Parts: sequence; structure tokens; C-alpha cells
Amino acid sequence: MKPPTNLQSAATIRRIIQDAAGAVERARKDDPTALQEISDSTDGDPFRVLISTVLSHRTRDPMTALASSRLFARFPNVKSLAAANTRTVARLIKPVGFYNTKARTVKKISKILLAKYGGKVPENMDQLLELPSVGRKTANCVFVYGFKTPAIPVDTHVHRIFNRIGVVKTKTPEETEKELTRLADRKDWLPLNEVFVKFGQLVCRPIGPHCSDCPLNHKCNYYRTEYLPCVRKRPLRRAEKAISIQ
Ligand code: SF4
Repeated sequence: MKPPTNLQSAATIRRIIQDAAGAVERARKDDPTALQEISDSTDGDPFRVLISTVLSHRTRDPMTALASSRLFARFPNVKSLAAANTRTVARLIKPVGFYNTKARTVKKISKILLAKYGGKVPENMDQLLELPSVGRKTANCVFVYGFKTPAIPVDTHVHRIFNRIGVVKTKTPEETEKELTRLADRKDWLPLNEVFVKFGQLVCRPIGPHCSDCPLNHKCNYYRTEYLPCVRKRPLRRAEKAISIQ
């Protein structure tokens, strides 16, 4: 089913972002994502944002924040991390999953940055994508949280929520990124990831989304087609059970 046209207007998407941000604010005020925390505490150091994003793959936010702070306390910059002992790096980042592989990866990235870019992170999508373990989501995180340039990092939360609402109808995060960058006003790109990662953790959760309290439910396709029909069946099921007991 094609999503209603009005859901795809830049103004509606802005309203969706504002409503989701309001819900996050009401649910839990002072709890930024790991990447926002790293960006705030380092004044958006692209190197630390890049390394932390690689550490965050398949890892929960609190573990990413813990591993990153332990790693950067010992190896604060690209030069020291490139020269670090891999086992020491693995021990420091152990709270994250696949820590042995990630230890080798972050060292490799640091060495490449030193050899090819004078120790700087390139502000260029193609060059970022050449680095090991860096895909579009990671590269876009470096743009948003590091360089503060407009981009839309699409992780599982952003992909799931915009498909549930019906703004996009896509199969992969890459397709969602393409659609959202086409539909959303460029000046709304920067806050989008931060808002929807938190919204996905707190409200529109992968399993058991809080649809009845959600400020977006009047716009949401999932609410209309999945949640409401399911809720309407519940009293009927209870009544059927009562009849069968009699
Ligand atoms: S109504 Fe439910 S599915 Fe739709 S955005 Fe809100 S929580 Fe997610």
C-alpha cells in the first residue's frame, strides 16, 4: 500500500520529528545517546565519533559509552591508538560485543588515517566508506555528530519507525536514507537520528511499541492497520472465553 501523500511532505516530516522529540523529552530528559554524549564531551571530535560508532555496532548505548570512555582515557588520539597494543585495546573495550575484532579494526582505521589523511578524518563519503567497518550509517554519524554537517544516519530505529508510520515503504536502511534525504527538509536532518534513536528505545520499541500513548498515532499506518484492529479484538476474546466457561 502506498503511504498517503501528505505523510511525505517536508512539513509533515518536520511535525513528526517535533512530536517525537516532545515524547522523548517527556519520557526521559537528560539521557543522550552514546554518540551525542561523545560529541558533546569532545566538542564533536570526528575521530572519536568515528571510533565510537564502530564500537557501537550491535552494542547497546551504555556499553558503547563505557568502552569509549575507557579507550580514550588511555589512547586519546589517532596517533596513540595507531601505536596501541591490540590486546590492551581489546581489554579496554571489552564491554562491547566482538571486542577482539573491533580492537583490530579501530587500530587499522587509525593507521590508515595517519598514512593517508595526516591523522584527520576525511569529510568525504567515498573516503569514509573505504575505511574498514565503515558503512553509510557510520559515515553519516561522523557527519552529524562529528562535523555537524546535515546527513541522515539510518539505523534500525529510524528504518523501523518511518516504515511503521508510513512515511517510507522500504526494505533496507540504505533505501530509507535515500527516501528521507529526498523527502525531509535539509535543515531537519541533523536532529533526526538523535530523536528517533531515543524515540525507538522509549516509545516505538521493536517489540511492544507504546502506541496508545504515542503522539504520532493519529498519523501512523501501523497504529491504524495493526494496533487498533488487535486492541478491538481483545474484549471479544474475553467475552468468548466467558461464554465457553459457562
Ligand atoms: S503509533 Fe505505535 S507504531 Fe506508530 S509511531 Fe507510535 S509507537 Fe510507533
